[in-house]
Amino acid sequence: MTCGGAFTKGGLAAFGPDRMKVHTTAHVVIAGAGIVGVSSAIWLQRAGHEVTLVDRMDGALRTSYGNSDVLAAGAILPVPVPGLARKLPKMLLSRNEPLFLQWRYLPRLLPFLLKYLSFARADHVVHSARALSYLLSDSHAQHQSLAKATGAERFISDEDFCFGYATEASYLADAPGRTLRRAHGYEIEALDGVAYAARDPLYSTQFTKVVCYKNSGRISDPGAYLATLLAHFQAEGGRVLAAQIDDIEVQDGIYKTLITDQGPVAGDHIVWPWGLGRARWQKSLGSSAWLWRASVAITLSCTIPAPCPKRP
Ligand SMILES: Cc1cc2nc3c(=O)[nH]c(=O)nc-3n(C[C@H](O)[C@H](O)[C@H](O)COP(=O)(O)OP(=O)(O)OC[C@H]3O[C@@H](n4cnc5c(N)ncnc54)[C@H](O)[C@@H]3O)c2cc1C
Repeated sequence: MTCGGAFTKGGLAAFGPDRMKVHTTAHVVIAGAGIVGVSSAIWLQRAGHEVTLVDRMDGALRTSYGNSDVLAAGAILPVPVPGLARKLPKMLLSRNEPLFLQWRYLPRLLPFLLKYLSFARADHVVHSARALSYLLSDSHAQHQSLAKATGAERFISDEDFCFGYATEASYLADAPGRTLRRAHGYEIEALDGVAYAARDPLYSTQFTKVVCYKNSGRISDPGAYLATLLAHFQAEGGRVLAAQIDDIEVQDGIYKTLITDQGPVAGDHIVWPWGLGRARWQKSLGSSAWLWRASVAITLSCTIPAPCPKRP
């Protein structure tokens, strides 16, 4: 793994498919065939394990099918940052802000929200950025390594991940984030709006400054990427069971069996990607996490011949 966010090529990517073989094999059952489940399945398969993926196989419900396709290595700043509470009312009330809340859900949300906002502190931002840089700084290399020899390599490209600032003031207000990213080894290029417009004429007038994060990447079609990885997993002997998971059974403190509408599916180990979290699993999984039923993301899909930005 990368240390302190420095861009050393490492982690699983450095091992490569051939060096992942181990001598003991297990039957691993993975709940969910989104990108987390499929990536786990391929690496476990490469390590010599027998793997079964269980998914209700409703493509439309997979987040990994319809995301914004950015390998955002530099996305290490958490959402709760100092000043967030002050901005919330405007974000919630303006139609142009990327935050939506079901108001009748607010009383249930409030305990979580207060705890969540208590993390909007400078020390917590520093802590999160450090932890996330371990996970994200080599995400481009990780995906290249995952996709190697699967046919899915063709969906991955090198792209800067760029942020446009309408005013000099908004650019300066974001300086602490850039300082933190630089401290974790991220390479940043800051351009004025005119220089950026020469690279992407679509943004000829919008921005005073554009900041581009290097070592990022893009998946040209997240749905096709996932489907190709899944097909590779199956071609290599992996099993996919189409089933609705209803519960998980624990034996001797170990998660051993998924209870599905197709019957129980037992393994030596169960992999449970967090993205599968739902309130009703929390008792079985012993988790006290809350799920925030609010949306904070906007995805723009560009269809040719509509004008598209050159970089995410
Ligand atoms: C609008 C949007 C844009 C995003 N953009 C980006 C981006 O640009 N870059 C980035 O890195 N991340 C992005 N993300 C986040 C990213 O898409 C998710 O973190 C990632 O897809 C989560 O993958 P997953 O495998 O955990 O979940 P999923 O892809 O949702 O997979 C979960 C799987 O579990 C299955 N499942 C769920 N419940 C059951 C059940 N009871 N029984 C059987 N099967 C079940 C589902 O069918 C699904 O296949 C974005 C997210 C959103 C919403």
